[in-house]
Amino acid sequence: MYADIIVDISAENLDKTYQYLIPDKMKDQVAAGTPVVIPFGKGNRTISGYVVDISDKPKIAPERIKPIVSVKEKENSIDSKMVALAWWIKEQYGSTMNDALHTVIPVSKKVRENIARTIVQKESEEELKARLGEAVRKKHVAKQRFLEELLSAGQLDYNLTTKKLNISPSVIAKFEDEGAIRIDSAQVYRNPFAEVDRSGYVKPDLNDEQSKVADAIISDIKKQNNAANCLIHGITGSGKTEIYMAIIDEVLAQGRQVIMLIPEISLTYQTVKRFYMRYGNRISIINSRLTGGERYDQYLRIKRGEADICIGPRSALFAPFDRLGLIIIDEEHEGSYISEKAPRYSTREVAFKRAEMEGASVILGSATPSLEAYTMAKSGRIKLFSVLNRANNAALPDVHVVDMRAELKSKNRSIFSRKLRSLIEDRLNKHEQVMLFLNRRGYSGTVSCRECGHVIKCPHCDISLTLHRTGPSDTAGGNDLQNRRNMPTDRPEEQASMVCHYCGYSEPLVKACPKCGSKYIGSFGIGTQKVEEQIKAAFPTARVLRLDADTTKNKNSYEEILSGFANEEADILVGTQMIVKGHDFGKCTLVGILVADMSLYSPDFRAGERTFQLLTQASGRAGRGKLKGDVVIQTYNPEHYCVETASHADYQAFYDEEMSYRRIMDYPPARCMLTVVLESLDEEFVIGRSEEIAGLLKTRLSGNKGFRRIVGPADAPLYKANDYYRRVVTIKSGDYGLLVDVKDFVQEWVENSAGLKVDYVFN
Ligand code: ADP
Ligand code: ZN
Ligand code: ZN
Repeated sequence: MYADIIVDISAENLDKTYQYLIPDKMKDQVAAGTPVVIPFGKGNRTISGYVVDISDKPKIAPERIKPIVSVKEKENSIDSKMVALAWWIKEQYGSTMNDALHTVIPVSKKVRENIARTIVQKESEEELKARLGEAVRKKHVAKQRFLEELLSAGQLDYNLTTKKLNISPSVIAKFEDEGAIRIDSAQVYRNPFAEVDRSGYVKPDLNDEQSKVADAIISDIKKQNNAANCLIHGITGSGKTEIYMAIIDEVLAQGRQVIMLIPEISLTYQTVKRFYMRYGNRISIINSRLTGGERYDQYLRIKRGEADICIGPRSALFAPFDRLGLIIIDEEHEGSYISEKAPRYSTREVAFKRAEMEGASVILGSATPSLEAYTMAKSGRIKLFSVLNRANNAALPDVHVVDMRAELKSKNRSIFSRKLRSLIEDRLNKHEQVMLFLNRRGYSGTVSCRECGHVIKCPHCDISLTLHRTGPSDTAGGNDLQNRRNMPTDRPEEQASMVCHYCGYSEPLVKACPKCGSKYIGSFGIGTQKVEEQIKAAFPTARVLRLDADTTKNKNSYEEILSGFANEEADILVGTQMIVKGHDFGKCTLVGILVADMSLYSPDFRAGERTFQLLTQASGRAGRGKLKGDVVIQTYNPEHYCVETASHADYQAFYDEEMSYRRIMDYPPARCMLTVVLESLDEEFVIGRSEEIAGLLKTRLSGNKGFRRIVGPADAPLYKANDYYRRVVTIKSGDYGLLVDVKDFVQEWVENSAGLKVDYVFN
């Protein structure tokens, strides 16, 4: 057996591993993360390194591979633990070890940019003056200039010295070697709260419901010596953050450290400030707007023990704390907790793993828990706590479900129902604010009826079919996705079909609704810009702000738009799901959801879950202050269980219904699911190979305990991307381990298949 060893854990060196032989006597001691001593270089001087991977395949001639000298005492350092975690991620999610290491050690190469270095005199003034005399005598003008400046100023900024005084680094290095000067470096990092005055902060007293939950969790943490994993299911505005902070206080008091994960979109100034007011400079904040250098500063602050709490999105899970006591995942249901690039890890699962390795606890929190988390809680794997009332006694809003089919029948074709229009007018008169919400996520090219709300679904998979163009592939240029999927319905019908992207089922595009016979069937869509125009037409005096991917391209525009609305610079805020997070708008008393069904149509088995979450979270934005709120949900499917249960904020009813669907269809979390994505530049080739592997897997898996079914092969939802054609095969199983075996089997098969790329998506 051979071990890949890395000699220095830093981002620049992650790619540089060296292979060594594992002597028989060490076999049982060596695993990913083990610190070892190895002979290195020509002279075989011994140095230390970490094992990052193990294999039975030599990368060079076996006789040239040197053996490991010894295994170091179990030091259990943070580096060692992070390497072990990377290895677990690689095994679980099927990535390369290199990708996994880059995930857990997220350090930029641009380390230098934020280091301020100062040149300080080390020798006495006399000694330096003597050096100056010598430099003058020898006509070393650069040295002369440098010493004169240093003597007059006492110390010099390094960058200024090299750039402005034009002294080369080698001259400075020489003085340093000779002991004349010393170079101090300090990481400078910008603290966005430096100016904020914390003196007025008072901890709020928890209300009874909050204290009960906090006390129970704190007592579990004390009793179980940190393995108090739980889910806090608390309605929107129930004050979960205060509960987290009470528990964080306890963990800090034990001398341990905390990772607080918040989705990027909720990580606003307002949110972070709450933590800063309470914990001051003991917090470290990570977000995607940090430069590489700033990110590295935070990494170092954590490594040096200058911070105890790291707040950030997904990547903050890898904060290098060595006394980690608690990981909190707020809004745990958010899709952004699943990595969209390899390794496609689930933050929740990795958090449980990291906590297990370090004896820490995990707290999940949400108003709309993922089915995975809730199932875990119901099965007893983690504890469940519920908070059913709003913290500051704000009342929950009144929810009105409006049937848009009836509006159509009454000849109202506008995007505003009569109910919504009158409530908007009412709010404009009262100078209160309105949020209008368009949940467009994932919606494109699905076929639905505007008369009866019927959505066309795959008879085998029970997810929406997607419009496809049949016949020869399109060479007309433009966006291929556009051509294939968003084809306008006025094109000749014989060219269009509806396809399931899980199993490949296909049928011609219908001409009339199979349920009610209406001709108003097709792929409908509306964008936020269109909505904005229609608001301006309908309510000419209203001031409107729009928040979507287009208006938030700039670094700070997201924050600017939200705070503009918070400062009442607009009456109406219209946007995508982005608007449902992060800010409290006390004056916002009306939330309108324009087409609740849009996210229901998305061709994904989680469409219903996403819809329930979006409707509930959006409703939760209304009436968070002293004024009572209203919510209007416009829909073509008022009787759909997702809409029904969301309108009553009845999570339990939603969960039961949704789980029975998952069980019947073998979707997660009832079963585990692996989607193998095959990609090739050659369309015919990838089609052939996807059929081959589906066949191989069928034979291999049939009769296996736990195996449920193979679905596909089919075109991927994004069939062609970057010139690659993409096909998917989906495997459902009651046993996760079986899927990991499938991944290893496919990996080996792909490695013998030139021109084929593969990606694994575990669900
Ligand atoms: P959640 O995260 O559950 O949606 P938050 O923690 O943001 O809820 O709290 C909602 C609002 O209630 C915030 O404005 C918060 O300051 C306030 N709040 C929370 N707990 C208390 C409390 N014990 N007393 C008074 N106000 C509270
Ligand atoms: Zn119909
Ligand atoms: Zn299907």
